[in-house]
Amino acid sequence: MTATSFEKNWDAIVIGGGPAGSASSAILAEYGHRVLVLEREKFPRYHIGESMIPFTYGPMERLGLIPLMKSSVFQKKYSVVFISPNGRASQPFYFFNRYDRNTVAQTWQVLRSEFDQIVLDNARSKGAKVIEEITVKELLREGERVVGVRAQTKSGETVEFRAPITLDCTGKEAFTSVRNGWRIKDPYLNKVAVWTYYKGSKREPGIDEGQTAVAYVPEKGWFWHIPQHNDMVSVGVVAEGKYLTRGGVKDPKTIFHREVEENLWIKDHLSTGGSTGDYYIISEYSHHSRHCGSDGLLLVGDAFAFLDPVFSSGLMLALKSGVMAGDEVHKAIVERDFSPQRFADYARFMRQGVENMRKLVYAFYDPDFSFKKVIDKYPEAAGEITDCLSGDVNKDFGPLWAKIREFVPLPEDLPVGEPG
Ligand SMILES: Cc1cc2nc3c(=O)[nH]c(=O)nc-3n(C[C@H](O)[C@H](O)[C@H](O)COP(=O)(O)OP(=O)(O)OC[C@H]3O[C@@H](n4cnc5c(N)ncnc54)[C@H](O)[C@@H]3O)c2cc1C
Repeated sequence: MTATSFEKNWDAIVIGGGPAGSASSAILAEYGHRVLVLEREKFPRYHIGESMIPFTYGPMERLGLIPLMKSSVFQKKYSVVFISPNGRASQPFYFFNRYDRNTVAQTWQVLRSEFDQIVLDNARSKGAKVIEEITVKELLREGERVVGVRAQTKSGETVEFRAPITLDCTGKEAFTSVRNGWRIKDPYLNKVAVWTYYKGSKREPGIDEGQTAVAYVPEKGWFWHIPQHNDMVSVGVVAEGKYLTRGGVKDPKTIFHREVEENLWIKDHLSTGGSTGDYYIISEYSHHSRHCGSDGLLLVGDAFAFLDPVFSSGLMLALKSGVMAGDEVHKAIVERDFSPQRFADYARFMRQGVENMRKLVYAFYDPDFSFKKVIDKYPEAAGEITDCLSGDVNKDFGPLWAKIREFVPLPEDLPVGEPG
């Protein structure tokens, strides 16, 4: 079936078949709504963002994905550890010290091409219609109201689809936020990431095999070290662009290998393995949208807010917002009311989560901050920090922020993204 022969009128249109789009369309299809997903790429497609945190469990459970995850080849992850440039490792933050070991506290390191295919197929199996290799170019409007999209197929044909509500799940490209002038860059979190994949490098023994290591380099940059299945490790460095390119170095491979010398643990762990030879570079300005949507339009996942990935919160936030958006849009369809105000609670809830994570990210990048100093003074902070690192972000972290503010300043909340 070609895109042009597809039904043109739907209950909901979802732009983007990543985790946010697949989650929201699965929920809507489960309610029995006719939902169309338009995805630019042909899946399976490459994507960065491979480490999950425990609170990804809830949305995956709601989507019916846990049995698949439990029987999958994906590497299990139980903790995160922080490594100083001289190679000294912190105590691991084990999620099972705070949450149930057999459910929430055990999470996964995934290969996104495989994981995203599973989540998209899950939406399909619940009844969502998915068209791949089609790019949304424009929103259709009647007055101020969004009434559908104009898209282009791979062969260049233009096709229009209509629905009373469109969900923008286009990831950090943030289709509508950019076009509407809603995108606000975070004033401080403007980093660059360079990464590759290693095979045959060193892994930790036992339950630490799948732990994420966050390994510092000077000037408050850091490496991620994410062990995956098939003896692969995803390893990348994140820092300010002017630090990474110092001396005029622009080539990702040269940048990467220069930084490996800056952390003894990373150097040692990679020493027995070899890179696949592919090196990636991306600018990863954190950003959020001034509005969560407008009449007939809702923003979900990274398209609403993209946060620096140091604590691996992206998948959790994408899936959680996808599920919540699915529920909220279902109510809107039933009540035939797509006014943006009805999504205000969704926006506040998602922003609260992003804000809590963002505060911990700011602390992390402050040269005067160390988890150890805070925990030495306030031992109970270890649990609170583990909760935030686990993605339990919709609770009151006021007591933790008060403790951390004794060491470093924390940012004020950003606007919540009220409906436009
Ligand atoms: C360097 C880096 C490291 C990261 N590490 C982690 C990590 O360890 N853990 C973690 O949880 N997160 C991580 N993330 C974040 C994570 O990748 C994202 O949060 C997550 O992918 C968001 O899901 P999404 O569905 O919102 O967007 P995406 O996964 O980006 O999906 C968006 C989809 O929309 C499609 N699309 C875009 N525009 C159009 C269009 N016009 N028409 C049709 N389709 C379109 C795209 O092809 C894509 O498939 C990282 C991000 C970066 C940059």
